[in-house]
Amino acid sequence: MTDIQLLPAVQAFLAREHGHFIDGQYQVDSLTPAFAVVDPSTALTVASVHEASAAEVESAVAGAAKAFKGSWAQTLPYVKGVLLNKLADLIEANGDELAQLETVCSGKSINLARGLEIAQSVVFLRYFAGWATKITGETMTPSLPSFAGEQYTAFTRREPVGVVAGIVPWNFSVMIGIWKIASALVTGCTVVIKPSEFTPLTLLRIAELAIEAGIPAGVFNVLNGRGSIGQQLIEHPLVRKVAFTGSVPTGLAVGRAAMAANLTRATLELGGKNAAAFLADANVDGAVAGIVQTAFVHQGQVCAAPERLYVHRSLVAELTEKLGKALGQLRIGNALDAETQFGPLANSVHFEKILGFFRRAHASNHVVCGGRAVERAGYFVEPTVVMANGADDPLLHEETFGPIVCVLPFDDEQQLVEWMNDSPYGLTASLWTNDLSKALRLIPQIEAGTVWVNMHTFLDPSVPFGGSKASGVGREFGSAFIEDYTELKSVMIRY
Ligand code: NDP
Repeated sequence: MTDIQLLPAVQAFLAREHGHFIDGQYQVDSLTPAFAVVDPSTALTVASVHEASAAEVESAVAGAAKAFKGSWAQTLPYVKGVLLNKLADLIEANGDELAQLETVCSGKSINLARGLEIAQSVVFLRYFAGWATKITGETMTPSLPSFAGEQYTAFTRREPVGVVAGIVPWNFSVMIGIWKIASALVTGCTVVIKPSEFTPLTLLRIAELAIEAGIPAGVFNVLNGRGSIGQQLIEHPLVRKVAFTGSVPTGLAVGRAAMAANLTRATLELGGKNAAAFLADANVDGAVAGIVQTAFVHQGQVCAAPERLYVHRSLVAELTEKLGKALGQLRIGNALDAETQFGPLANSVHFEKILGFFRRAHASNHVVCGGRAVERAGYFVEPTVVMANGADDPLLHEETFGPIVCVLPFDDEQQLVEWMNDSPYGLTASLWTNDLSKALRLIPQIEAGTVWVNMHTFLDPSVPFGGSKASGVGREFGSAFIEDYTELKSVMIRY
């Protein structure tokens, strides 16, 4: 398979017959079709997973609904927090195994899998665990008239909505999965997670760890399969909320299907074509280091990463030259190799899509660096910088979700704001400048869910994250998630 050794526990896990985690049990219906899990570093199959049958979808949702009214409803908020913290401890303790598993399925470099995917999942889980005892309502004093001395009081309760369908993409399957699982569990909901068919394994292992942590059976279920399984989940009458992360076209279909099914509430974290603006006073070396770190992390397959770079004309020559040089020095290699700085793309479909962008760039643009596949097994491409042919260049407007940044020089800051906002998306943006007062004046004009200054792509559990415009509906983490996973019940009392 590869000369980089997998841990025995990972080898043993991969060799299992895989399916789903339903009502506290690993379950496989060997009669349903199986799909292959392919290591993007080698293009070799490492495991196979059976697609869920309609009966398995039914039993996962039924198990989650039973646990919602039963064991999880009877678990005190404090104990819920303790159990989520125990799961965090177990993920940390099994971190090397989980990181290898995710790397071999997703092509994420092992350092990123250990240091970000797994380590940050633990941080997020512990953050959410802290909310368990802090979900509260409000009290009100109604102004109703009193004719015979009667009085009124009112309060609100935040009640869990019920079974949540969590649908996650392949780029950060563990971390994005944990955002949805932890949000659901800490608010008192139960969850059925549908991972991407490209990264179906790590959340299965984490579901086993949840049982080991003491989280009751049925609270956290995993169903594997293609998009149609997600569709069945969304349409199930016992599913009360859909938490989706993925592309804009699928997100639109998911939002419509949820609404049409049962007016099911849906939060949608979708794609972006994120702008980063480098103002005339920006420090070029800092900017180059920042672009390498944030636009090319995980081969650019990060929804929040910058893809459009607006660079003040006075900086363009120096910045593109230094950026091309820095990217040329990244060590490309097998994602399991700790020396690797730039691994493969996640799957063959995405690889072909990125090669298509390269062909278009070579045909119509000046390619500063990269723009080719790397001649080796697996789905490797070069980190790429392209000059835009004006503000309407399609490469400045279509999400590539890959290691391609497109650079456009600007002269005037009002023009810059118009260009930054000239996108159907509004996920993230960044300003690179030491002039804080200028940054503070620009921030309110930028249409994005998150605006960073002198940084990009970094997420923290205390800071809400989500998209504006076509980049989505709703916010994850911070305290904002509570609203999406709970129903607000008003209570009025006459006494
Ligand atoms: P997709 O939208 O293709 O898929 C996302 C998930 O939805 C997968 O589990 C997929 O299953 C499932 N799915 C596909 N069709 C349906 C359907 N009809 N009903 C229900 N579920 C369905 O996205 P990718 O996995 O390709 O991920 C890349 C995209 O995700 C990029 O556009 C990126 O910008 C976005 N993204 C957004 C983030 C954010 O927070 N805003 C974060 C990360 C990624 P399967 O894979 O098996 O088809």
